Amino acid sequence: MSSDKERVELMYKRFPKCPLCKSDKGYGFSGWIDDFAECVSCKAKWKLLSWFSEDAKMELVKVSRDPMKRTVIGHELLGKIYPTDFWQKIKRLQVKAKEVGKETEIPEAKEVREETIPPKPTVSMPVIIVILVLILIVIVAGIGVYYSQMESQKKPKFNVFDVRLLDEGIAVYIQNTGNKDAHGVTIETSCRGYDGDASTYGELEILKASETRKIITEKTWSSYNFDIPTLDIFRVTVTVTCKEGVSQEFIFEVVD
Ligand SMILES: [Zn+2]
Repeated sequence: MSSDKERVELMYKRFPKCPLCKSDKGYGFSGWIDDFAECVSCKAKWKLLSWFSEDAKMELVKVSRDPMKRTVIGHELLGKIYPTDFWQKIKRLQVKAKEVGKETEIPEAKEVREETIPPKPTVSMPVIIVILVLILIVIVAGIGVYYSQMESQKKPKFNVFDVRLLDEGIAVYIQNTGNKDAHGVTIETSCRGYDGDASTYGELEILKASETRKIITEKTWSSYNFDIPTLDIFRVTVTVTCKEGVSQEFIFEVVD
């Protein structure tokens, strides 16, 4: 049968140089049942299968670092079984190219991460904050304009719905039917009767919106010096004003 010497000779005949590192420093051989050949230079190790037949194969069982290139060569072939002609056709340059490609991929990926991660918080966050602040300003301004317009449209509105003649003056029943409080309200009456004219005056510091009050307006003058109850009044004109600029007049016809 075959001997160890024939096995070694066949290895050197098929592979004068290491399939991976192309070194011609030779091989170390080991194994009893299985045959192994290991490159002295790059430490790549193959299991030799059907070694003396036409379809001899080799399984790469170990790879090591290329001491010069500082790269692991052939690790993508680790554990693979190929015919000897496959291993013979491997070119040094192809192996190098793959390793260079793998080496450069990793730093590229790192650079991409370093470039893409920081800009996200530094560029986009201020933009988002500025947009949010602008939106907030627009909303606040809009609310302010809305309320100032609503407030400017609000005003007091008076309704004098009854007057009564009293000894000391005239009772005026007044209501603020507007949507804003009235301040500095003055109630003046002008009374005309058969026997002469008279006038009464009253004040209210505030008449709130929807508030109804009874005000006793007191006599201020009488052209004939009559008391109001004896005036035989047939017409009372009530004029109401306030500091909000509202002035309204109400006329009551009084029948004897
Ligand atoms: Zn080698």
